[in-house]
Amino acid sequence: MSEVKQHGRRRAISPSTFVEESFAPTRREVLAAERSTATPHGSLGALIRTGLANGASQKVGIALAATGLALAVTMPSATGVSLASVDTTPATVAESVVTAASDVAINFDSPVVASALNPDGQLKETLKVKASNVTPQASKGTLSTPLKVLTPSSPFGGRINPLTGAPGEVHTGQDYAVQCSTDVFAAAGGTVTFAGWHQFGGGNRVVIDHGNGLSTSYNHLSSIGVKVGQKVERGDKVALSGTTGASTGCHLHFEVIIDDETVDPLGWL
Ligand SMILES: [Zn+2]
Repeated sequence: MSEVKQHGRRRAISPSTFVEESFAPTRREVLAAERSTATPHGSLGALIRTGLANGASQKVGIALAATGLALAVTMPSATGVSLASVDTTPATVAESVVTAASDVAINFDSPVVASALNPDGQLKETLKVKASNVTPQASKGTLSTPLKVLTPSSPFGGRINPLTGAPGEVHTGQDYAVQCSTDVFAAAGGTVTFAGWHQFGGGNRVVIDHGNGLSTSYNHLSSIGVKVGQKVERGDKVALSGTTGASTGCHLHFEVIIDDETVDPLGWL
């Protein structure tokens, strides 16, 4: 008990006098509280502090707080058990929480950051097998987004043709709504295999071959900034968006092509 009183005195210099008042009871005060003279507010403060100072009792503290009137009865025994840790540990607990958090950030974030920073390596690894054999788990995230801001408008797959209204059309790419003349970026490094007018609706179109059966195409462009045979890096600006060809408004029609067949780009982004 002398230890408790000592701590109580030390904490008396704390600026948090309200907590102190309700919190460093002597044995006599505890007994008095047991006879239900403690205010519910003071008891609640004590229980919350107890919970914060002692992680193991946090749930207990909250559960007790939730019981309302039962507080005055339950509090003294809880306080009696954990007074020492309540008085001595708050600063230590705060410090150790911070330390643990920064350790966690270093240990677990760095591999994620490393792979996010190296999608080229990831794609190269993925394309060790032919693109047609790549699993969805392996392809996801290996291509970079072709626009800075993505506003998906029409997904890959079956849809009603927006121009003719005909059902059963297979939409061969992912559409992104974007203002005309917005920068369009290469989804990965590769070689430009097409840069010009696409006769089948793509309008101004760029196709980039990324190797081993994988290509991407960028359609309805207002202008093209690359030539056939040119090597590009991931993220290079290759064109400006537009609404040329079979298009109802400014947008980018982005395709992922495997062995001349289009697949859902979202499986690769
Ligand atoms: Zn489209």
